Amino acid sequence: MSGLYVHIPFCRKACTYCNFHFSTSLQNTEAMVNALLKELDLRLDDWHELAFETLYWGGGTPSVLSPEAFYRLSEGIKSRLGSRSWPEYTLEANPEDMDSERLSAWKESGVNRLSIGIQSLNDRDLHTMNRAHNSEQARLSIETALQMGFQNISVDLIYGTPWKSHEEWAEELNWVQGKQLPHLSCYALTVEEKTALAHSIRSGQAQAPNDQHAHEQFDMLQAWAESQGYEHYEISNLALPGHRAIHNSRYWNRVPYLGIGPSAHSFDGKRRSWNIANNAAYLKQADLNQWNMESEELSLANRVNETIMTKLRLMEGLAAVEIETLWPGWTASNQKFIQNQTRQGYLVDHPNQIILSAKGRFFADFITSELLVG
Ligand code: SF4
Repeated sequence: MSGLYVHIPFCRKACTYCNFHFSTSLQNTEAMVNALLKELDLRLDDWHELAFETLYWGGGTPSVLSPEAFYRLSEGIKSRLGSRSWPEYTLEANPEDMDSERLSAWKESGVNRLSIGIQSLNDRDLHTMNRAHNSEQARLSIETALQMGFQNISVDLIYGTPWKSHEEWAEELNWVQGKQLPHLSCYALTVEEKTALAHSIRSGQAQAPNDQHAHEQFDMLQAWAESQGYEHYEISNLALPGHRAIHNSRYWNRVPYLGIGPSAHSFDGKRRSWNIANNAAYLKQADLNQWNMESEELSLANRVNETIMTKLRLMEGLAAVEIETLWPGWTASNQKFIQNQTRQGYLVDHPNQIILSAKGRFFADFITSELLVG
């Protein structure tokens, strides 16, 4: 079983911290729908043997598409993959787009999971990050989605911003708790190179996030999640039992997937390939029917390292035997480090699996880097 990822490369505003591929010019959405369907026609030839079980629209902001454009693309994709009901059909949506007309079109076409980019319920946060919505719109979007019958809802939240106090973070979590949302994706604010946020920090116009502040809010999140019965099944993802994200879990378990659209990546089990991250160039390729993708065959060391990086983030952890089979001698060369980390409480004491403890999760990057090969 595999998944299809559809990248919609448009956003209403450029968020200051974002380094995904998107354009704030919304003029070419119709042409983009045509190009995406054309790419799917071409790429499906190589993927026909795989049954697609999940459909995931990300971006960018898929919800900026008009109801008509969304419906045309959705029905076009479904007719090419064989119309049926999807165990998981996710659409990333931003609060400012979630009117009843769009929500109806999404529902009618089979979307059964919404991933809503509320990011914060704090207007200072939202304004400073240049989000296109305010906290009232964020709350309203969730209430409207629930009223329209969407039950499988995930919200994105950002913690550790210099503008959010611990009390405000606790209030956000409490509001989410009141809505009984089944899934949350929570990320610490990070400063990526070449973003507007990085520039503002360098020029002294914005405050840099503080590691200790983020660490304390991550600990608050973990304590809250445990008290509310959420499984912290991936470092940034929490779900009520039975509500883990199926599509994204496949990425973390290195299951093949096909990605279409500008900048979208695909993985066939051995090779990663990716589209050009430029809307105009992508549309031109579609016009000429000449697709120039880049790709990379993963070396053994790359495969081992990807496995370590993704599985260590999961609640179930990494099976030492899996790495040992691929890379003989790995266990012996890491035994001392693993014992040390376990003694200090950063790893769970387990005979076969390497599992980050609640204390260790915040230090995942460091622990992972020590375990890589090559
Ligand atoms: S809406 Fe999402 S993809 Fe678009 S700029 Fe903001 S964070 Fe980036």
